[in-house]
Amino acid sequence: MNTDRSAALFERARRVTPGGVHSPVRAFRGVGGIPRFIREASGSRLIDVDGNSYIDFCMSWGPLIFGHQDPDVRAAVEAALSRGWSYGAAEAGSLELAEWICRRIPWVEQIRFVNSGTEAVMSALRLARAATGRARILKFHGCYHGHVDAMLVKAGSGLAEAASPDSAGVNAETAANTLVAPLDDLAALREVFARSGRSLAAVIIEPLPANYGLLPQRPEFLQEMMQLAHTHGALVIFDEVISGFRVALGGMAERLGVKPDLVTYGKVIGGGFPVGAFGGRRDLMEQIAPVGPVYQAGTLSANPVAMAAGLATLTKLETHSPYALLERRGAELADALGSAIARAGADLRLQRDGSLFWLVASKASTPGALVRRVEAIPRAQRERFAALFHALLERGIYLAPSGYEVGFLSTAHSAADLDQFVTAFEAALGARSAA
Ligand code: PMP
Repeated sequence: MNTDRSAALFERARRVTPGGVHSPVRAFRGVGGIPRFIREASGSRLIDVDGNSYIDFCMSWGPLIFGHQDPDVRAAVEAALSRGWSYGAAEAGSLELAEWICRRIPWVEQIRFVNSGTEAVMSALRLARAATGRARILKFHGCYHGHVDAMLVKAGSGLAEAASPDSAGVNAETAANTLVAPLDDLAALREVFARSGRSLAAVIIEPLPANYGLLPQRPEFLQEMMQLAHTHGALVIFDEVISGFRVALGGMAERLGVKPDLVTYGKVIGGGFPVGAFGGRRDLMEQIAPVGPVYQAGTLSANPVAMAAGLATLTKLETHSPYALLERRGAELADALGSAIARAGADLRLQRDGSLFWLVASKASTPGALVRRVEAIPRAQRERFAALFHALLERGIYLAPSGYEVGFLSTAHSAADLDQFVTAFEAALGARSAA
């Protein structure tokens, strides 16, 4: 596979941009090698600047649930564009999208649009602190909530001790107001609440953690977490940036039959354009400026082109309801990859939930046991995934370039695309065991 042009662009990019990229994982550090510079994309396909074609299972990290350049989203975007692309004033596109969401998702009584998931989380945390008059936030090890200072933390040495910064530039004082608990550990959670529950403004969680691999949580864990939060006067924030509109229209909250106090969205809600949102209980949302004292704003917030892409995506999700199809495709893919893994006797497993999947270098000797927490991810994951990633890339399969990121299916992935993935996967396993 010729990658000369990507290599030349990468070389140039590194001179003017840290690591040559505008978001770190794109640099392929987790897998090594030259990041592919993408020239164009359509349906399930990416084409790079050297003319190589790939079936894309990264899908812009989740927004493109209908694939690249979906014709309905494109038509809505073009119509919006023909009227202008930013007004910095009240307009009806964001109203339509807000009404659409509030009508269908009962726990979202009001919503505000921002430009990214990070912004949505940042604003929801500020609101939670204001509403409760408390400073501390509880998060879970293995959940990602964007690059908000308070969330760029790692667990301290003891259980629920104040976290320490996980990035240079995050103050210890900021990190000290974040507590970190392990996923899938009710005993630890109860202890955190017993010790610190009354000082918590909010608990934030990805109800389907999908940023450290895919770490499905037991419903009992999520339900007790909500109960503990509410008994201790803390708010529950569901970060549904990935799961919102993807696992169901109402995301994981719908699936679990629960009502978080606040919810954050991103990705699918903008149909591939920069959109995030936070919403929830009216009494909380009305504390946001200009009605209430919690300041929050954005020059390009609710950009009309992005709003049109979002509305086209969400209305199409409702009219086409692709969830059963995505589940079926996901199940077929999981079956086929699972058989290939068994035939090759590889220490690998596919964890999947609907259209999200993750290949984990888990021992075949523990079949059936889901990896639900970070500590259970085998040490070999990074290295094993890197080898597999390149063997697949060579064969025209583009996965997210890190062993800790999930794969995304879209409705644009045909049965033939999945067959091609399986064939490449079998060859990749063979090549690896022969190596
Ligand atoms: N929360 C979750 C659950 C996410 O997956 C992400 C991004 N992957 C974010 C927040 C941050 O979103 P953004 O990258 O749009 O800032």
